[in-house]
Amino acid sequence: MAMPMKICVLASGSSGNAIYVEEAGCGILVDAGLSRRELGARLGTIGVDLGGVSAVLVSHEHGDHVQGLAVLHRVHGIPVHANRMTASGLFDRGLPAPAFRLFRTGADFSVGPFTVSPFPVPHDALDPVGFVLSAGGCRVGISTDLGHPAPQVKERLRGCRAIVIEANHDGELLAGGDRHPSLKERIRGGNGHLSNEEAAALVAAVATEGLRDVFLAHLSRECNRPELARAAVEGALRAAGRGGVAVRLTFADRASDLIECAAENSVPAAPAGVL
Ligand SMILES: [Zn+2]
Ligand SMILES: [Zn+2]
Repeated sequence: MAMPMKICVLASGSSGNAIYVEEAGCGILVDAGLSRRELGARLGTIGVDLGGVSAVLVSHEHGDHVQGLAVLHRVHGIPVHANRMTASGLFDRGLPAPAFRLFRTGADFSVGPFTVSPFPVPHDALDPVGFVLSAGGCRVGISTDLGHPAPQVKERLRGCRAIVIEANHDGELLAGGDRHPSLKERIRGGNGHLSNEEAAALVAAVATEGLRDVFLAHLSRECNRPELARAAVEGALRAAGRGGVAVRLTFADRASDLIECAAENSVPAAPAGVL
């Protein structure tokens, strides 16, 4: 019996982002937007030692995703997986070239038991990506900063067992808020952040029978409410006949639920002769 994959969103939002995924004793981080100390503390709450983390995957170079990266690498020597453009955007953050294991967006690579598939996402960074991590028959899709639900994002998230997706803002709260119009435009634009409504439609569109858990990530403090984000996504899933999917919140100041994702065995096998 294989060990289940574990997934926990350690921090989410414009103040810092980090996601922990573990398979067969190999733990990796997607983004490291918290201080080393804070990352260590939050991993400690789920019984994981920061020094044992095998790798960090970087989605893009924005500070809320990378601010703990240099210290993490210096103290623990944890390798940093990034594409070339993102790495070039990180040199001035004190990360030396040898810290990096470069990947190509669109090309799968391995980290321990994981197959990592980085895919392009629309966002105002140098070469931003989302990731699908596969191991032990389980697939988790992660896309936390994206301006709009581009076709390749839908394609990659379809069929996942768990999805971490941005639900950044409520359309009305953003329109009515007192942010500068240009900032509102950046957030709303095709390379900014995903609204609750867009996240709901995206999740409903990619939800297959195997989808069990959805984490709502990168919620705006000013322009969103957790209950609005959750209601939008739960409503869309119900309307799509996928009301059984667990919709979970993520937080700026604490870790989310830790879920265990066993290889799918509850899906009925195809009848003999049907592939
Ligand atoms: Zn970003
Ligand atoms: Zn971000």
